[in-house]
Amino acid sequence: MIEVAVYDTRPYDREYLSAASAGKAIRWHFHEFHLTAETASTAQGAAAVCVFVNDRVDAACLKILAKLGVKLLALRCAGFNNVDLPMAKALGLPVVRVPAYSPNAVAEHTLALLLTLLRQTHRASNRVREHNFSLNGLVGSEIFAKTVGIIGTGKIGRITAQIFSGFGAKVLAFDVHPDRGWAKQSGIRYGSLTDVLAQSDIISLHVPLLPETLRLLNPKTLKLMKPGVFIINTSRGKLIDTRALISALKSGRVGGVALDVYEEEEGIFFEDFSGRVLQDDQLSRLLTFPNVLITSHQAFLTREGLSEIARVTVANINKLKSGKFLAGTTL
Ligand code: NAD
Repeated sequence: MIEVAVYDTRPYDREYLSAASAGKAIRWHFHEFHLTAETASTAQGAAAVCVFVNDRVDAACLKILAKLGVKLLALRCAGFNNVDLPMAKALGLPVVRVPAYSPNAVAEHTLALLLTLLRQTHRASNRVREHNFSLNGLVGSEIFAKTVGIIGTGKIGRITAQIFSGFGAKVLAFDVHPDRGWAKQSGIRYGSLTDVLAQSDIISLHVPLLPETLRLLNPKTLKLMKPGVFIINTSRGKLIDTRALISALKSGRVGGVALDVYEEEEGIFFEDFSGRVLQDDQLSRLLTFPNVLITSHQAFLTREGLSEIARVTVANINKLKSGKFLAGTTL
């Protein structure tokens, strides 16, 4: 029996992981709290530890896991910016993830956010429920014939770009490793980051969080953008300098923002704060803008995405039985 300590779990995680492991020799120990150096001792007795995007698997945490005899760190997500990989390697602790569970889930959520924001359907729906059938203040904009900048054309960025093309938008893209064959086939043009930022009416972020992409949108890069630009971030919160974004929203330079991720989301997103005082002033300020729409890191949350995350995570953990992971194998 493989004992697995699972952190930051919600009912949907438990349901899908339990279904995917039916008949397999895996015993889950579900925790609602995050894995951090402070909570790592709860992995006592586990052969594998399973984490999500906001668990903080830093050097201190990894050292405790290694000491406890944990044999595998299984991420049930694609991004791995929250894990100190060099330390995991040094400790000989293999790290696995789910590199592509449903890029469509994230790409479609990107469009869901943008369409809601552009057509103000969230506000319209609230109005109609109050029997207010007036259209004043609900004038929207179209995607058709707009220029859309896709930053990062990996699995999610490429699908998002193709959906935008389907809307009749002109798609520009930036990636440090451009896929020119795909671009040619899809009628998409690559440009420099500066060109894409300067020419786009809508900018959508799909790069991973790395030292080079940390605060990719900052006072300098925000200034390059067209006045009235719409920005969407369904990738990682720390790609955007929130303080600079708030200034750009206040001045009207940025026309609208849709976020599924937030710079300081850890400890807030996935939690129920209703009826409590939100201590994060920047998030509170963002929530006051009529042209900002925020979801709480839910782009992955489809039946298809959860099934695939659970299937791959179970397969990853099951490999422990055959001793397939060599010490130090990472991702
Ligand atoms: P991917 O690895 O397939 O693609 C990432 C792309 O970014 C690659 O093409 C890479 O060349 C490019 N890139 C890397 N560094 C760059 C840089 N400095 N400048 C420009 N381009 C750069 O990843 P993916 O599956 O498309 O996922 C993208 C990100 O989406 C993940 O890293 C994760 O942070 C995020 N994500 C969010 C959710 C959610 O629920 N909101 C779910 C899954 C993934």
